[in-house]
Amino acid sequence: MPVMSAHSPLAAQLYARLSLDRRLGVKFIALAPATRAAWLAAAGKKIDKKNGAETGEEKIDGKIFAAPRVPVNNGSTASGATATPAPRPPANVAAPLPPEHLRQTEPRLTGDAEKSAACRAQFAEICACRACALGASRRQVVFGEGNLDARLMFVGDYPGKDEEFVGRPFVGNGGQLLTDIIEKGMKIPVGAVFLTTLVKCRPPGNRPLKPDESAACAEFLRRQIATVKPRVVIAAGQTAGQILSGRQADLAALRGQNFQAGDATVVVTYSPVFLWQMRRKYGRGNDYDRQTWEDIQRAMRELG
Ligand code: SF4
Repeated sequence: MPVMSAHSPLAAQLYARLSLDRRLGVKFIALAPATRAAWLAAAGKKIDKKNGAETGEEKIDGKIFAAPRVPVNNGSTASGATATPAPRPPANVAAPLPPEHLRQTEPRLTGDAEKSAACRAQFAEICACRACALGASRRQVVFGEGNLDARLMFVGDYPGKDEEFVGRPFVGNGGQLLTDIIEKGMKIPVGAVFLTTLVKCRPPGNRPLKPDESAACAEFLRRQIATVKPRVVIAAGQTAGQILSGRQADLAALRGQNFQAGDATVVVTYSPVFLWQMRRKYGRGNDYDRQTWEDIQRAMRELG
């Protein structure tokens, strides 16, 4: 989602009063404390310090973002002067937000119109899905995005915090590393690829997936693969690799061989977030980089 900065208290007040973030579909970053205070006051928020970010805000990569505008009971917005406050749960109860309070980002899809219509229908199903416990805790689903005529699909395990916040797969440092692998390593424009995750809802705190969660969501992934019809699927993560290969094995055991998912060849490799963490620890060109490049080269041979 595009980002705009509020550089003065006056600008922040104006943005908040006109609800420009909701109208323009952008996120605002208020840079200075006085500007943040003006934003919060104009948006009718209380300054209540908690974990480095005020109530109603998001802190991502050290930047403070204004909270998304959500509808309240009377159909007005959270920033409206006449808005009726939603009932608050007791402080020690983490009540899930009702569905009408959740924001949902539409997937960015290009390519074949028929495939796009099929994906939009799948997306609507996923948005309504509560087949596993993650449906109650998610903020929004992450369907995936990209070219529906892609010959190459990347499948991560699940959306992380940043992905859930913007509603897109593979964002942040791991996403940038994946873009580099695709564009600089494979010499394919990232817009020609389809990116998604096995599980469409973020596990709380990015905890490991439970078997029933990955099994419940696997059918959505199979339908995405059947719709896009890629030549090669790269499973970038152990759980995605297990589901797509049909084998309960460690990632190390799944690497180095090809599997079949429908008409697509499946290659298993490390997740971009893990790779990025290993680069921070061991530097570029470490063993994990080398092994990933072997996997990518095998996928490129399959692509022809
Ligand atoms: S993770 Fe998948 S199966 Fe579970 S609620 Fe979300 S969409 Fe449904």
